[in-house]
Amino acid sequence: MKITFHGAAQTVTGSKHLLELNSGTRILLDCGLFQGRGSDTDAMNKDFGFDPKSVDFLILSHAHIDHSGLIPRLVKEGFEGHIISTPATYDLCKILLQDSARIQEYDIKYTNKKRAKAGKPLFEPLYTIKDALTALSYFKKVKYGIVYQIEEGVTLSFEDAGHIIGSASVHLNINEGAESKKISFSGDVGRYKDLILKAPKSFRQADYILLESTYGDSLHDDANPAENKLLEIITDTCVNRKGKVIIPAFSVGRTQEILYSLNNLELKGKLPDVKYFVDSPLSEKATLVVKAHPWNFNDKVQEVLKVDDDPFDFKGLHFVEDADESKALNDDHSPMVIISSSGMAEAGRVKHHIKNNIENPNSTILMVGYAEPASLAGRLKNGVNPVSIFGDYYQVNAQVVSMQSMSAHGDQHDLLHFLACQDKSKIKKIFLVHGEIDVQNNFKTKLQKEGYGAIEIPYRHQSFEI
Ligand SMILES: [Zn+2]
Repeated sequence: MKITFHGAAQTVTGSKHLLELNSGTRILLDCGLFQGRGSDTDAMNKDFGFDPKSVDFLILSHAHIDHSGLIPRLVKEGFEGHIISTPATYDLCKILLQDSARIQEYDIKYTNKKRAKAGKPLFEPLYTIKDALTALSYFKKVKYGIVYQIEEGVTLSFEDAGHIIGSASVHLNINEGAESKKISFSGDVGRYKDLILKAPKSFRQADYILLESTYGDSLHDDANPAENKLLEIITDTCVNRKGKVIIPAFSVGRTQEILYSLNNLELKGKLPDVKYFVDSPLSEKATLVVKAHPWNFNDKVQEVLKVDDDPFDFKGLHFVEDADESKALNDDHSPMVIISSSGMAEAGRVKHHIKNNIENPNSTILMVGYAEPASLAGRLKNGVNPVSIFGDYYQVNAQVVSMQSMSAHGDQHDLLHFLACQDKSKIKKIFLVHGEIDVQNNFKTKLQKEGYGAIEIPYRHQSFEI
């Protein structure tokens, strides 16, 4: 059989790997959107590198848009097969894919208005809400640990990857002639000491492993728990300087981690008495989905649930509903914390909040997750000053602070821990995916030092016979 890496290949977004079996069956692992790639992004998202009509099954590791966000486009271009995911991944996709479609439709409407005025031909959206709804009707839900037969000679099982609610590592057993091949795809690997979720599960011996490598060459700061750092930043910015803390955060995962940390501070009587806003309708919906899957929570959260029936809600927290209310936050000069999406600050209300606070030395922009270097969050993290937002340049007078300890991705220790259940001598090949090339090269060297043999770092559209 053949495997081809069509996305998250020497980069972090656009996860998409195609297995072509000798029988002719085609199985796609993930169908993610490329994000934060500047002017190349749109063209990359329109070039699958394969014919969507020819794909029989799509197996989805988790709901994050860089893994699921091109599913409606796949459907728009003729895919009619099953989409297999865990039940929680389906619940999240229900809100995320429709939201993504809404953004696509909105953005194109705006662009087309300008093009119509200039007498230029109009563009089509990448996909529409209708495409997203059709895609949702193709889902088949499979729980963790169940061996599910995809077709004769091909079985699949999901194991908890501990990355976000519903996230899974994917384990395929494929019989070809007399041979049985075991292929494991890590999806995104979570942390062994996650704030909210259980640790990633071990998995049975694999022949081929597709391993994410986002933080393959670094270690997260565990010495200083997220809630201490949050307390320090909120106290400094809101209490001492009467400023605003703006936190760009992914709607799924990161937003709930921040809310949970702030709730813990409240339980300890340490939460500063200021206003807290979640300014993203999607983040509010995602928080409801997370709350609806409490069996995914680790023991610590289960303990908190005994004394607090809602560990994501605390005094002073308000979910902002409409755009007018969001805009009104600009005219409110009292100290506050605004948690808003998107996580890379490429779109969404957070981009406006950054624009309105970036020149204020009393404000803090707090980065709590991964950001593509070309995205607004990535540029701020890298110290770009002045910074361009919506086509205008702004002086960065606000403090820009980065908090790596909140990552939903495992660090190098976690990734090695994830592999530790394997007999190294039995692995035929490890493919490193979902990482920046420099990080991947460093991680490859580390893996080789640890005794792992053949390691490939595929580039986009590269194929291997396996
Ligand atoms: Zn993810």
